[in-house]
Amino acid sequence: MALVLFNTLSGKKEEFKPIRRGEAGVYSCGPTVYNFAHIGNLRAYVFSDTLRRVLEWNGYKVKQTINITDVGHLTSDADSGEDKMTKAVRREGKPMTLEAMRQVGAFYTATFLNDLKALNIERPDVMPRASDNVDEDVEIIKILENKGFAYKISDGLYFDISKFPGYGKLGNIKVGFLKEGARVAVNPEKRNPADFNLWKLNPELGWNSPWGTGFPGWHIECSAMSRKYLGQPFDIHTGGVDHIGTHHNNEIAQSEAAFNVPLANYWLHNEHLNLGEGVKMAKSGENFFTLQSLIERGISSIAYRYYLLGAHYRTPMAFSFEALKGAHNTLARLVSFLAVMPEGGAVNAAYEKKITEIINDDLNTPAALAELWELVRDEKVDAADRRATALAFDRVLGLNLAALIREQSAPIEIPSAVARLLSLREGARAAKKFARSDELREEIKKLGYAVRDTEDGQKVEKI
Ligand code: AMP
Ligand code: ZN
Repeated sequence: MALVLFNTLSGKKEEFKPIRRGEAGVYSCGPTVYNFAHIGNLRAYVFSDTLRRVLEWNGYKVKQTINITDVGHLTSDADSGEDKMTKAVRREGKPMTLEAMRQVGAFYTATFLNDLKALNIERPDVMPRASDNVDEDVEIIKILENKGFAYKISDGLYFDISKFPGYGKLGNIKVGFLKEGARVAVNPEKRNPADFNLWKLNPELGWNSPWGTGFPGWHIECSAMSRKYLGQPFDIHTGGVDHIGTHHNNEIAQSEAAFNVPLANYWLHNEHLNLGEGVKMAKSGENFFTLQSLIERGISSIAYRYYLLGAHYRTPMAFSFEALKGAHNTLARLVSFLAVMPEGGAVNAAYEKKITEIINDDLNTPAALAELWELVRDEKVDAADRRATALAFDRVLGLNLAALIREQSAPIEIPSAVARLLSLREGARAAKKFARSDELREEIKKLGYAVRDTEDGQKVEKI
């Protein structure tokens, strides 16, 4: 059964044909670690994890790479403004050194890894840090310079897009629209408004290079890391739709100009999680939710995953707590259904085929969830087989159903110290002493447990 994916490059669904038989190389643009990931960012990684799981379900050996952007991403994607990491170093009151920047990056990388774990996202095979791959960036920039694609102006080295025929081919971006506008200050030294930074000069901080002290551009980092770990071309490149216009077209231009072969064969993009009509949740905006803030409102991380799977990855989602709560309750119901079904059944071949067909159609997760519910309620199928089929298919959905069933059947053991704090917290909440209740939550967290407030009272999870 063919696996079909929507390729932004061609603008249509295509059968996935790997470069090497039975293998798939996937690169996903990773987080810029200058702040906590918000739940919109995490949509991008639940999507790439689902892609990985579907490839594995189809028998591919997947090599998945998610980079860590710990230098070079400027406050405007289109190459102006300050580096987001240096801004974070300043915000956190640290000295402006590469070491301090790595420390800030390491802190937010650790919180990102915790988020991945909580969402049951499989750890990527490779997670390179941009700051560990600067030599690789310099090598590619030198090639571009020798081939006449680069030019130097007062703040750094730039890529001349007019030298690359077909610039903007991903998503058919019209170069005319890429003019620097209100959001981006015009840099009069650039030859073309959409020319982008390869090496940013910064006498204050950076690495030595043939062009002076500074740091690599964000785009060249992804070109260099994907090539290093997956080769060029590789199979699939993913990212959020915000990356199509600038970042990914720039990656393509540099990599293809330097090496005369495509960068990647398939480009997949997830739509955004929006706050309201078309308002993107953004790290740079104040208004964003972290996974932790959902847990504090009584929503488990896996319920957030279930909520995301309820929409196709190419559909924009308008975030709402009501819908999220709905997903939380639906997942709990699913687990209750499965928990009372006997173990030891066999996978039902008809459902397996149907669900595979659904998921192989460009990762149609909402239809797959609907089919899963069909299966769970199908009295014609033996209950043990229903449970076995659902658990088998969870390899694709990644809801960790087996663990949820175990938890439901055998509630977690709570150490007496935690139990004591919980009871104090219950008292504080009843007395509407919410500041005290928050303090107690922190104390409970220090002991390795997260508390959620639900309609049925406090629920505890091991962190
Ligand atoms: P960043 O850390 O800002 O570089 O973004 C990490 C990933 O999250 C990228 O793939 C972005 O395209 C994606 N992303 C950013 N904002 C959202 C959003 N609101 N919804 C879904 N994906 C997003
Ligand atoms: Zn990237």
